[in-house]
Amino acid sequence: MRITDVKAVYPNYRHVVPSWRTHFWQIVVRVETDAGVVGLGYGGGGVASVEIVNRHFRELIVGRRVDSVLDIEGIWDALYDASLPYGRKGLAIMALSGIDLALYDLLGKAEGIPVYALCGGLKKQRAFAYATGQNSELYREKGFMATKFAHRWTGDEADYEDAVNRANRARELYGADAMIMVDCYMSWDGEVTLEMSRRLAEFNLFWFEDVLNPDDLEGQAALRDKVKPTLIAGGEHEFSHHGFRDIASAGALGVWQPDLTWCGGITAGLRILDIARRHDIPVSPHRGGEVWGLHLIVGSDCMDLAEVHNDQIVAERDELWLNAPKAVDGYIAPSDAPGFGVTLNEAML
Ligand SMILES: [Mg+2]
Repeated sequence: MRITDVKAVYPNYRHVVPSWRTHFWQIVVRVETDAGVVGLGYGGGGVASVEIVNRHFRELIVGRRVDSVLDIEGIWDALYDASLPYGRKGLAIMALSGIDLALYDLLGKAEGIPVYALCGGLKKQRAFAYATGQNSELYREKGFMATKFAHRWTGDEADYEDAVNRANRARELYGADAMIMVDCYMSWDGEVTLEMSRRLAEFNLFWFEDVLNPDDLEGQAALRDKVKPTLIAGGEHEFSHHGFRDIASAGALGVWQPDLTWCGGITAGLRILDIARRHDIPVSPHRGGEVWGLHLIVGSDCMDLAEVHNDQIVAERDELWLNAPKAVDGYIAPSDAPGFGVTLNEAML
């Protein structure tokens, strides 16, 4: 089939969540074909990214054939090369992510198979889920067996006590063997991370996420041995396999967390996994409980761990994607419907 049109739209979000998500303005990308099949994808970058898709990428790919994963990879490479002067990281790759995911949805629908089958076939019937947010009690009540809380270092000594209290509470609620993580969203520094490592040692946290600025690869690499057995996690702010190759070369992170709607879609995700495999690094996609990451998790050797955000659990967000899977008893599974298995709430466009 040939691509006949490509269009990106920034949805009319009514419910803007007071979190990081407001900064990343997710967009919808629709790819139409002469076969009548339509692919839908999710990208980042807001109206700036919409402009990249509609005014640059569209004209480069209308008329191209999409009959295989190889065709999608070819389109990915062409768009990466064409946007290279202003791209490589950030908005251009967030825009490219939306197109790549729409192409995977398209190919899955054309072949009548779910995206995980295009990734390499079902490797896990379901993914073990962890809940991200501050409502540890609620997530436990809802059946989650693992959780990650947020912590912000403000420069106050009391922040250490806050981290200890949260870790202690989570350990009490979830039990001695549960995975408990902390995400400090780049608010710690090397010194704070080492002190946290000492104070939180008794709670045996699984990972510390985004401890430093993502550009400080050496700084993160230097922390890895010192905070063991806790892992240094990160990668939601990195882009494409090129970016993750640099993380690998620096030995900066013990867990990689690419966001499939930002890092370059499934094409980039599979290439990132190839690098991770060679370096023996587990990959746990950011927001992996959303279909874009979930299909990769169950269709590859990604770590068996899917992130489910607080706003997915308490339903504090717009229902843009309908029929999205929900976590049940601490696990989440994609449907076996063609493509990503979700439909778009057109009323929001
Ligand atoms: Mg994070």
